[in-house]
Amino acid sequence: MICNLVGGRWQAAATGETLDVFDPATGEVIDRVPLSPAADVAAAVDAAATAFVTWSRTPLMERVRLMFRFRELLEAHRDELAALITRHHGKTLDESRGEVRRGIEVVDFACGAPTLLQGRTLRDVSTDLDQDLYRYPVGVCAGIPPFNFPVMIPLWMFPLAVVAGNTFVLKPSERTPLGATRLAELFCDSGFPDGVLNVVHGGRDAVDALLVHPTVGAVSFVGSEPVARHVYSTAASGGKRVQALGGAKNHLVVMPDADFDTAAPSILNSAFGNAGERCLAGSVAVLVGAAGDAVTPLVDLAAKLTVGPGDQDGVDVGPLIRREHRDRVAAYVGDGERDGADVLLDGRSHMSRDGFFLGPTVLDGVKDGMAVAREEIFGPVLSMSRAATLDDAIEQANRSALGNMAVIFTTSGRAARRFREEVQAGMVGVNVPIAQPFAFFPFSGWKRSFYGDLHVHGSDGVDFYTRKKMVVSRW
Ligand code: NAD
Repeated sequence: MICNLVGGRWQAAATGETLDVFDPATGEVIDRVPLSPAADVAAAVDAAATAFVTWSRTPLMERVRLMFRFRELLEAHRDELAALITRHHGKTLDESRGEVRRGIEVVDFACGAPTLLQGRTLRDVSTDLDQDLYRYPVGVCAGIPPFNFPVMIPLWMFPLAVVAGNTFVLKPSERTPLGATRLAELFCDSGFPDGVLNVVHGGRDAVDALLVHPTVGAVSFVGSEPVARHVYSTAASGGKRVQALGGAKNHLVVMPDADFDTAAPSILNSAFGNAGERCLAGSVAVLVGAAGDAVTPLVDLAAKLTVGPGDQDGVDVGPLIRREHRDRVAAYVGDGERDGADVLLDGRSHMSRDGFFLGPTVLDGVKDGMAVAREEIFGPVLSMSRAATLDDAIEQANRSALGNMAVIFTTSGRAARRFREEVQAGMVGVNVPIAQPFAFFPFSGWKRSFYGDLHVHGSDGVDFYTRKKMVVSRW
């Protein structure tokens, strides 16, 4: 049974209510996670508030030294963390290694705190009058990650918060709780004082308790759109600062002049990497004009992808997270078929095997009104639609209520620039499968893919986890 971390002690939750944690490749139960009640959340917030008193006054260079130690431990345990991700999430080992690397990059960024946390000074603004901007920590911050990046997304949150002098309560995904648990062990081993990072496992009750707790000053959330909206409105109405990243329905626009040899593997990677369980997954490929000729070769390439357990060599597409989620994805394929789309590649043939598998699936002739064109599927399903011109393709993408990522494949700088200017998405790619900003830039979508103001990591992350104080002085 997985324990909570409260004030430096690993302890059982105050509940007998648990959920199973699975190996999605076999369907076996490998652990149990508690559904902690509000009392556990309150204990963790209290521990974080107590630790804040001394941690917020701990000299910056001491905080940074500990962060460097944490970074070294993460590097030393990279392969172990990747194997753990694959074991309870299902993605391939290569994908897990990539996830760990991108997570560590945020810790690299947090180690730059002596530069990042600097304020500003302007002398003689008026006669003998100086103005100084100082950054202060916010207080107790909370983090609520989704299931699909059990190591990387927690690392988007607590390292930057903590190095800025905040203390933290993390509520990992109840479907993939093992990554955050191991991160917290390594964090404690790095020498951080008790209570600086606390971990409370659970589901919606634990989240709701964090959202209304008066001591929590800031909430970072990543997950589905309806929950992001709920988190934003609940926490913000209590006066907390909130960054709530929601779902996605990403369009990949393929121009007739695209270099097919580069575009094809990128489209497959975007749609089927991480079994499509990525907020940056390409979901709808909009083929412009003669790019429609790419359908058959794309389907042929997708049919060659190997589906299987993520820890086996040569596997391209691992299982989905849960049987219910896999069945929901399969139901979308059925809906698309009923609505008139052609199923050119049917991954439902993999559903008979053990584990929660569904292979790469390609739907053609997808039209705007269909559910598969509008709703986030979060599985290895690529819908293909057609557009006469680039402007038509951009309009198709912009009709989505979500605006996380949009990608164009083209050899025309003019088309790429027009796309960048007109498409309504927070992350835009040109000839890349995934437009993921590195840790030193902000990450987030637009429209209903994001509720809040400051995005995660980069300069926005520093602003989110610090309060500014202005001092105006005359001597
Ligand atoms: P989810 O919304 O079901 O869960 C996210 C977190 O919210 C979990 O910790 C969960 O315990 C909690 N939660 C779930 N339901 C809740 C409720 N009713 N009330 C309060 N808390 C609740 O998301 P998920 O299925 O774990 O993750 C997949 C989703 O996350 C997809 O929609 C994906 O697009 C999105 N996502 C977005 C980004 C991004 O950067 N925008 C990144 C990764 C994933």
